[in-house]
Amino acid sequence: MLSVVLGTRSEHKLDELRRMIAAAGLPMRLAGLPPEIAEVTETGGTFRENAALKALAYAQAVGGLVLADDSGLEVDALGGEPGVHSAYFAGRPRDDLANNRKLCEKIRQIPPIQRTARYRCCLILARPGSILLEAGGAVEGMITPEPRGAGGFGYDPHFIVAGLDRTAAELPPAEKDAVSHRGRALRTMLARIADQLKHDPGWCGNASGA
Ligand code: IMP
Repeated sequence: MLSVVLGTRSEHKLDELRRMIAAAGLPMRLAGLPPEIAEVTETGGTFRENAALKALAYAQAVGGLVLADDSGLEVDALGGEPGVHSAYFAGRPRDDLANNRKLCEKIRQIPPIQRTARYRCCLILARPGSILLEAGGAVEGMITPEPRGAGGFGYDPHFIVAGLDRTAAELPPAEKDAVSHRGRALRTMLARIADQLKHDPGWCGNASGA
């Protein structure tokens, strides 16, 4: 049984990761970050760099396996913004409504056909001092300045998922998981973990203290 700490302070991400990992039925025990552990500052220039920063720092702090995610929205007509600044697009503290207001102001200047965007996610599994596995995922879409739907979080009411004609906030949780950047990255990651466990059932057992 692998003991893994989910390296995020976002309740929304924690919920999404927990429900998807539970649905996958792997022999993994999941825990949230202990409250006394300080939040890692995301100084990286890419999702991968930030996911690695978080995974390694939290693995050191908890002394075991950590799965960390970094994710965000890239809008083509804004040169990839907000990108790694997605959480703090409108400044600090993190404010989803203010972020969405800023996004809508900018997107209204862009012709509708050019409002293409994608969510990206990078997941990294680390133990103290080393990265073990990584996986990425993306989902394409279009930005709408008119919010739709009450589910999801962050930019979801403004992100129309390609091919579905609904925003991510209009999708039931299982449907968001099936198409989302985090769902795709996590399925790849879980397949890699399952593969490692198949070849070596004791894989990482010592590192995790399980
Ligand atoms: P971080 O990975 O904690 O730096 O923050 C990622 C930010 O990207 C979030 O605060 C959201 O603004 C945005 N984001 C990432 N994933 C999603 C998603 O699934 N839906 C909506 N917004 C997201």
